[in-house]
Amino acid sequence: MDESVRQHKILLDESEMPTAWYNIVPDLPEPPPPALHPGTLEPAGPEDFAPLFPMDLILQEVSQERYIDIPGAVLDVYRQWRPSPLFRAHRLEQALDTPAHIYYKYEGVSPAGSHKPNTAVPQAYYNKLAGVKKLTTETGAGQWGTALAFACALFDLECEVWQVGASYDQKPYRRLMIEAFGGVVHRSPSELTAAGRSYLAQNPNHPGSLGIAISEAVEVAAPDPEIRYALGSVLNHVLMHQTIIGEEALLQLDKAGERSPDLIVGCTGGGSNFAGLAFPFLREKLAGNMSPTIRAVEPASCPSLTRGTYAYDFGDSAGMTPLMKMHTLGHDFVPDPIHAGGLRYHGMSPLISHIYELGLMEAISVPQSECFAAGLQFARTEGIVPAPEPTHALAATVQEALRAKETGEETVILTALCGHGHFDLASYDAYLNGRMVDEAFDEDRLAEGLSTIPAVPGR
Ligand SMILES: *Cc1c(COP(=O)(O)O)cnc(C)c1O
Repeated sequence: MDESVRQHKILLDESEMPTAWYNIVPDLPEPPPPALHPGTLEPAGPEDFAPLFPMDLILQEVSQERYIDIPGAVLDVYRQWRPSPLFRAHRLEQALDTPAHIYYKYEGVSPAGSHKPNTAVPQAYYNKLAGVKKLTTETGAGQWGTALAFACALFDLECEVWQVGASYDQKPYRRLMIEAFGGVVHRSPSELTAAGRSYLAQNPNHPGSLGIAISEAVEVAAPDPEIRYALGSVLNHVLMHQTIIGEEALLQLDKAGERSPDLIVGCTGGGSNFAGLAFPFLREKLAGNMSPTIRAVEPASCPSLTRGTYAYDFGDSAGMTPLMKMHTLGHDFVPDPIHAGGLRYHGMSPLISHIYELGLMEAISVPQSECFAAGLQFARTEGIVPAPEPTHALAATVQEALRAKETGEETVILTALCGHGHFDLASYDAYLNGRMVDEAFDEDRLAEGLSTIPAVPGR
């Protein structure tokens, strides 16, 4: 190939940007199990979610429509960085000496540096429409807090963020970025909520967890009609907002002359960037138009899909949310403080869990040092320092590209590079200077976590 003319980035014009989100639910062979009210154990109705979310988002959560139009005001914000580029990783392919074609959809071009604004912007928009004054939320690595603070600034909402303690301590620049957008940040667990105080009583230096931070944000939002809560992953409407990633990638791969990918691979914390990329391709697969393997990659330290139980559990640690059927390590499970903070969630999105149970996708787990090795190889060939989370997808991409080298197949791999790592350099410091360890997965802690899953007879 003439290296001087090969195509690196496949771009769409603003006018080609998709104008609807894709809802996979009506296309599935079986409907996903409903969320349950934790008191009655009956299916939760819209009124059970009303203390937390505005009605437009609740209706999206349970929608049976295949497509939902993206409001004009949201499209207008999206156009600041969308359509996002699709890159062909020629130099990584060369370094791996693989016949595979590797493509990555890069979401780090957003103002927050990740895919999270794809849902933060519509969530802020619908809350503003409903007359809400303030949004509360949790953040793990700080990416979601940054995205929501950005979106709240655009729609003139207050934003209050509980940041997981370990990440608050390690990542001062994420906190400062949230504050730059006008958000208020608390270290979680905090003294501000009953849930936070109970965890601090157990351990004054508690490292926190996403589940605990969610409990705090929910506790503040639920009783006050002017305050609502926003979740950055896991829920159906969040996954749906992210499908613009995959819809664009479908158009871009086609432009690149690739009829269909062989493998779609993404990292999964709560599952939103993975679903955003994969669901439009799964629609095409279910329709018989292509047949890619769809593979989720999770950290070996927090393996909800590969080691969790498929059961009804709480979305937060204190047990305040409706019960959701999902792959869970138990709502009290506190994973090791690995560097991919965005992947440290005890559960997996109910929709992804259901699709996994239906056998429509597969999952693997990878230890973090293998992920950082792949992340650095990517940085040194493609020039982008990835966030620690998508290095999991890159590690799996490298695994597949090396398999293709053995078989000689021109496998087409598509992955989501869902964020850059410019605020995560402390984790690269740990890796580069020999301070990163792959903790053996603590089976006792898993057993303890699984024992906190509530009993839900008959389901
Ligand atoms: C939040 C985040 C994740 C994990 O969340 P998902 O919902 O699984 O996508 C992964 N990568 C980045 C960059 C994130 O900000």
